[in-house]
Amino acid sequence: MTKIRHLNLATMCPVGGRLVSGSPAEPAELVVHALLVETDEGLVLVDTGFGLDDVRDARARLGAPLLWAGRLRLRDEDTAIRQIERLGHRASDVRHIVVTHLDPDHAGGLADFPHAAVHVHRREQEAALHPSTLLERERYRPAQLAHGPTWRLHEEAGETWNGFASVRAVTDDVLLVPLFGHSRGHAAVAVRTGGTAPEWLLHAGDAYFFHGELDEPPTCPPGLALFQRVVAFDDAARRANQARLRQLRRDQGPRVRIVSAHSPHEYREITSSRTSP
Ligand SMILES: [Zn+2]
Repeated sequence: MTKIRHLNLATMCPVGGRLVSGSPAEPAELVVHALLVETDEGLVLVDTGFGLDDVRDARARLGAPLLWAGRLRLRDEDTAIRQIERLGHRASDVRHIVVTHLDPDHAGGLADFPHAAVHVHRREQEAALHPSTLLERERYRPAQLAHGPTWRLHEEAGETWNGFASVRAVTDDVLLVPLFGHSRGHAAVAVRTGGTAPEWLLHAGDAYFFHGELDEPPTCPPGLALFQRVVAFDDAARRANQARLRQLRRDQGPRVRIVSAHSPHEYREITSSRTSP
């Protein structure tokens, strides 16, 4: 049986105004949407946002370009460790962490949970530890991994989940679903809710940023569309993945609920709904 809690670990107000928000009435705002899942194997954290060291020394840890472009609002109380402590748990209660990828807004909190096993696709860990392109050398922050995480590296081996290749990450209820494109080894994380509508929650990480990208036809403010293209490791694969996610939504309807890591619209919708998984 799983219980899923939704956490917003940081707010980013990137430059770009309506080119990012899609509306002059709405500010350019991105959340960092993570999941805390209670499983039979203990607490599982899906993505870690920024960590305590990132808050303390943002310029050195994250670099000036990200701080400037992302206009990050980093607060100690928003970090995963502080939110989990407020829920009455200790850092050591988090036995497993599953990360969609290792960009700084997803991997920064790893050092706050040194006892957890860190599940990630093998390709992504290789990209972060051995970056091969200029983009990869820029995007990953070695300081966030310098503590030496206890890696659990995964590669898909023929299992499928709703037509997607998949691999069991922690239990049969928490799966890694590779969606390479945004980064070299980017993956979504599927969590079985224990209910029926939805039966699964799919945390799609940075496979898309704007809620309208899964609509038919898809929509995305031009600033966010450009950003996604520029930072993609493989843009054709990234776009193909979005088409597959739209197909998944068509085929599965309410059985599978899909959320991205950064949509404030989706985060508000899911946390304001009393029936949310
Ligand atoms: Zn991100």
